[in-house]
Amino acid sequence: DRELDHASADDIAKLADEGGFDVLTPDYVGLFAYQEYGGYECLEKVRGGEIATDALIDMLSDAGLRGLGGAGFPAGKKWGFVRSYAGPRLMTVNGDEGEPGTFKDRFLLESDPHRTLEGALIAAHAVDAERIYFYMRDEYPAVLEILRQEIAALEAAGLIEPGYIELRRGAGAYICGEESAMIESIEGKRGLPRHRPPYIAEVGLFGKPTLNHNVETLWWIRDIVENGSEWFAAQGKEGHPGPRSWSVSGRVKDPGVKLAPAGVTIRELIDDYCGGMADGHVFKAYLPGGASGGILPAHLDDIPLDFGGKLAELGSFVGSHAVVVLSENDSVKDATLNLLKFFKHESCGQCTPCRSGTEKMIALLEKDGPLDEQAIRDLEAVMRDASICGLGQAAPNPVNHLLTFFRNDL
Ligand code: SF4
Repeated sequence: DRELDHASADDIAKLADEGGFDVLTPDYVGLFAYQEYGGYECLEKVRGGEIATDALIDMLSDAGLRGLGGAGFPAGKKWGFVRSYAGPRLMTVNGDEGEPGTFKDRFLLESDPHRTLEGALIAAHAVDAERIYFYMRDEYPAVLEILRQEIAALEAAGLIEPGYIELRRGAGAYICGEESAMIESIEGKRGLPRHRPPYIAEVGLFGKPTLNHNVETLWWIRDIVENGSEWFAAQGKEGHPGPRSWSVSGRVKDPGVKLAPAGVTIRELIDDYCGGMADGHVFKAYLPGGASGGILPAHLDDIPLDFGGKLAELGSFVGSHAVVVLSENDSVKDATLNLLKFFKHESCGQCTPCRSGTEKMIALLEKDGPLDEQAIRDLEAVMRDASICGLGQAAPNPVNHLLTFFRNDL
């Protein structure tokens, strides 16, 4: 099935018609197996009023559940905001996992998709959403097929009305992982991020108050309801509540999705979860949060990886928890250029600081002769201050770190 990961959805559909589909989806927990171990009991309790919505929101807040798509906004607070605006309301699930190095949502949906679906239905009940739009990236055909099958199974089992969860395919744009661009895309327009305010909690999909969550954020809701907020919070390091799914790649022995506490350090991730550095590689640098969180040096290996804190002071962030490990065999300048070219390619082009800034930054770094550091720093400030969305604001992060920590690589 892995060989067919890059097949188009039409290819997959054709294979399914030919009866060859069962080889394409990995083993995963389907609806009946999920129900056998208590699946959808939490939803029934919430729908039946056994757990009141206010209590549920308190539970999420006490658990410290944060948005795990990258922004880290407290989930309970978000539910409260959306509920404060008059209905009708909608809900979106963001499955457009496009941050370089991130693959945990795919893993979760390819193994236990109903955890996310149950979490979405609980959240939708809490904000009284009249419909859920599940936006899934088209590059994950197996996930799309799993979701098609399992949403149909939920309808057949009477757990949702037909059409209550509508699956939408993304078309490969990184920017459509930005929530307002995703909403534009669902509305059938170009995926251009919106100016804010108003935030989507107030004016979201089709102009309605909208609750948007990442796949993993919803995945944890059943655990919190079943095991309690204290249990959930205790899975993290002190002061960093909760477990997280980390996508770890690069020069480690055993890359993959690792379940590790919030606040774990890169040293612990490498040694305790990934079997150490790959043979022949010496740890040199790491990307703590995909392309957007920049590149930090190996000597900063004891920073708790979580939202805010020391990472933020360093102009970095953990984002979607995509950690890429680089070794002495890698040039940080090359890595920086690689990331900048990615941002240039994926810029939606709507605002000049990002559209033009990414291109100019590449030219400044590739120019022969001594670097014009003043021009680079000026451009960095303009992009950070004047870009409309996070793409343009975060694009200079790797450049900042290159100049600050990796002068030998210049
Ligand atoms: Fe588009 Fe970049 Fe501006 Fe975001 S910062 S709106 S991606 S041009």
